Amino acid sequence: TVNTETHGFQAEVKQLLKLMIHSLYSNKEIFLRELVSNAADAADKLRFKALSDNSLYEDDGELRVRVTFDKTARTITIADNGIGMSREDVISHLGTIARSGTSEFFDNLSGDQAKDSQLIGQFGVGFYSGFIVADMMTVNTRAAGAAADQAVQWESEGEGDYRLADITKESRGTEIILHLREGEDDLLDAWKLRQIVNKYSDHISIPVEMWKEEQPESDGPDGEKTPAVPGEWESITRASALWTLSKNELKDEEYNEFYKHIAHDFEDPLTWSHNRVEGKQEYTSLLYIPARAPFDMWNREKEHGLKLYVRRVFIMDDAEQFMPTYLRFVKGVLDSNDLPLNVSREILQDNKITTSLRTACTKRVLTMLERMSKNEDEKYLKFWNEFGQALKEGPAEDMANKEKIASLLRFSSTSVGGPAQEVGFGKYIENMPEGQDKIYYITADNYTTAVNSAYLEIFKKKGIEVLLLTDRIDEWLLSHLTDFDGKQLVSVTKGDLDLGELDDEDAKKAKEEATEEFASFLERAKSTLGEKVADVRLTHRLTETPSCVVTNEDGMSSQMIKLMESAGQ
Ligand code: ADP
Ligand code: MG
Repeated sequence: TVNTETHGFQAEVKQLLKLMIHSLYSNKEIFLRELVSNAADAADKLRFKALSDNSLYEDDGELRVRVTFDKTARTITIADNGIGMSREDVISHLGTIARSGTSEFFDNLSGDQAKDSQLIGQFGVGFYSGFIVADMMTVNTRAAGAAADQAVQWESEGEGDYRLADITKESRGTEIILHLREGEDDLLDAWKLRQIVNKYSDHISIPVEMWKEEQPESDGPDGEKTPAVPGEWESITRASALWTLSKNELKDEEYNEFYKHIAHDFEDPLTWSHNRVEGKQEYTSLLYIPARAPFDMWNREKEHGLKLYVRRVFIMDDAEQFMPTYLRFVKGVLDSNDLPLNVSREILQDNKITTSLRTACTKRVLTMLERMSKNEDEKYLKFWNEFGQALKEGPAEDMANKEKIASLLRFSSTSVGGPAQEVGFGKYIENMPEGQDKIYYITADNYTTAVNSAYLEIFKKKGIEVLLLTDRIDEWLLSHLTDFDGKQLVSVTKGDLDLGELDDEDAKKAKEEATEEFASFLERAKSTLGEKVADVRLTHRLTETPSCVVTNEDGMSSQMIKLMESAGQ
């Protein structure tokens, strides 16, 4: 090796390495899943690139990954003939984490190992997970199309830095050598490795091969010699793209493991929907809802979208054209028979097939959520707590599905004895007393403020439920959602509250009398407050608090005013 140089890891990589080794140790087998998953990704990328340059295959078009081990050297090697990496690739992929918000993420970890291990998992530990079992990793890699002497070696103990050197590598692709830590020798076993591969990687798109030892000549049962069988590479996985199989051939665990491969996630998904469509339009979609929101879900610019295939050929990751932004948490695969193989992001932008696929995929997700919300209460609330904030962007973004999305929203409510967001418009309407024809809500900075608001007094007295909207995005949501199922959404802080038929006759009469009685007081109050108020009115909405400030019917709500003020408007 020549031209050796030492590079420091990016600070976040160092943090990740330190945390990961401890918190993921109980699940150490996943290192193999991650490395095999990367090999499959590398094969997909090569196939795609070779569509326009067949010479990249270099007479070696049978893409596969091989797992071997060496008991004496105490190493495990994962070798693929995929796309490989150049020196620049190695530096940017195996030394940094390119995701905004990463350092904040690490700063916010609790230090509680069980909790953090879940979080680190969803962060996608990938390549670095090799260090759970290895105290040194060597990567030899050559990019497809590069000359043999243009290969690179990366080597690191997984602490502060790594070394890079120029090497010669005859075969294309990447070879990862794990030098096992003390005490990991149980992994140096063909049966064990095979078991791990079968468990986690049965459905990646390329075969995983292991070396089958030669069988020496042996004595058969009838005294005749059975000839020796030479050793050979043997595929130990199904290697069938999972989504191409039919649902009834597949077990839940297989869906779960496939999800972890494509989503780079560590936890099982919450649910999925797998569909093959034939006819005018032909495609297969496999859409997953993760169990946990990514730490940077707030980031609408974050890469998201589906893994796009055209007739089984991988085309691109994060094809965002098939999912609206408010569903950016959905992971999955879309395999189209109608798009051209040479499709690019630009072509996808402005394409009739794209539009109809997007409409179809959106509908699938909404239907999947609807079904969950109806049949699996607990699961749905788990979903809501993770992704509700994103879904609340829906009514503004997706007019066509507004009502459907609205029916999926959940809020805190005066009918729930705590801040849990459990009540949807549907349930609210079911619980309305006779005579109520509006949906009442209040917006506030937080649950405590909302639930203790004086505005709620009359509603409490009359036993009318009020939705408590306390998320930042709620005002935005309400500016795009004014009614549900024909019922107007009404803020309890606005204007002259008209409770319609809910106001009884006695109350109306009492109000008229009071208006007369307090006329001169109101005059005095108005002249004292002067320009600070638009009007001073008698109200029946309070039962305990003497007075409150309300906003005009068509004016901004008090929460919106506060929001504008805090933004310096
Ligand atoms: P992820 O797979 O989520 O992108 P990883 O940590 O698993 O993250 O891998 C980081 C990057 O390193 C990959 O995105 C890829 O660019 C590169 N890489 C890792 N393994 C291989 C491989 N076997 N062949 C080519 N590139 C690889
Ligand atoms: Mg990976």
